[in-house]
Amino acid sequence: MTQLPLRAQLASALGRSAATLSRMTGRGDGSVIGGRVGLLLEPDLLRKLARDRKLALVSATNGKTTTTRLITSALLELGEVATNAFGANMPAGHVSALSQHKGAPYGVLEVDEKYLPEVLDTTGAGVVCLMNLSRDQMDRAGEIWLLAQKWRRALSGKPTHVIANCDDPLVTWGASTAAKVTWVAGGQRWKEDSWCCPECGGPLDRKDADWACRECTFHRPEPQWALDDDVAVDPRGQRWLLDIQLPGLANRSNAVMALAVAEAFGLPVDRALPRLREVRSVAGRYTTVERDGRNARLLLAKNPAGWLEAFDVADPQLPIILSVNAQGPDGRDTSWLWDVDYRILRGRPVFVTGERRLDLALRLDVADVPFALCNTFSEALAMQPPGRVDVIANYTAFQQIRSEFGRAV
Ligand SMILES: [Zn+2]
Repeated sequence: MTQLPLRAQLASALGRSAATLSRMTGRGDGSVIGGRVGLLLEPDLLRKLARDRKLALVSATNGKTTTTRLITSALLELGEVATNAFGANMPAGHVSALSQHKGAPYGVLEVDEKYLPEVLDTTGAGVVCLMNLSRDQMDRAGEIWLLAQKWRRALSGKPTHVIANCDDPLVTWGASTAAKVTWVAGGQRWKEDSWCCPECGGPLDRKDADWACRECTFHRPEPQWALDDDVAVDPRGQRWLLDIQLPGLANRSNAVMALAVAEAFGLPVDRALPRLREVRSVAGRYTTVERDGRNARLLLAKNPAGWLEAFDVADPQLPIILSVNAQGPDGRDTSWLWDVDYRILRGRPVFVTGERRLDLALRLDVADVPFALCNTFSEALAMQPPGRVDVIANYTAFQQIRSEFGRAV
């Protein structure tokens, strides 16, 4: 790799020092502050750090942290990989990730949906992976149709190879201006945000996984990759048993996306797949915390689509603790609780906690789901018999549980 210019070298080094100081003073893992310091000193730092690397950008409403991790794991087969493993998914986090692995020839960056156009322009990434778009953080997130429109503008006229989920009409529309697209039938569990054609506003007709606009020519492209239960089907029709450790249908979809991205990097399935199987948990998701013989498995769900994915993973034989907060990173508007169908929880012992436990309690009551209300997570856990319990929590609730019960990764 070519040397960075002196100013960029200095900015990168000072950014890393700030990150170290931030960690030493207990102010977090430092990945954001370090990047911010670097960008202050050298606004063009991200472009310079990205130069000469082969980069993949990963964006979606749900699953981007996990898919970033899976792709990173696969590409390690080819060499060193720089990545923002802890979800710092805006440019400061990208600067930090690339600074920490200056010699890495590969980079896999999780990118916030809003920032994708800017980061693509800046880094000139060769590969972009797009998975799903649905409502999220209702009080501050941009309208998702506008996001998809921005993706279209950003991808138009660039040589970027896009790997996109053709089961999501909005993602399909967002990706379809790209010069080269590999379509993956990645599934779409949450359909409530895509009943209308993004091209003309007409109704979308659906039949099984297929969809098409009734009023214009917009329709589901033919996928090159697909998921069939626990089997990935590659573009040559060859079938690969996934057998990954991450649980649930959403993660099997993420794995197929990762295999398609790996192939875009020239890495064949037989070398990528064993790497995907090594991933057991991602930033604390699916890990188990333990207290007094109670083993609580942590599932993160930040929005309605995420809750459906968590329900798919949760064991119907086990009691379940639900924790909902409404701090900045969660979004303060929790009206989306009303969009989730909680009836699947009927018949299980359900425990409700978190700052917005009363909101959630009312929602469950309306859905005829019996529950116990708990003031704290500790109290909810203490009410369990010894053994396993599942926990679904939104962002800050999840982080609180992790920090209180140990950051097992
Ligand atoms: Zn249409």
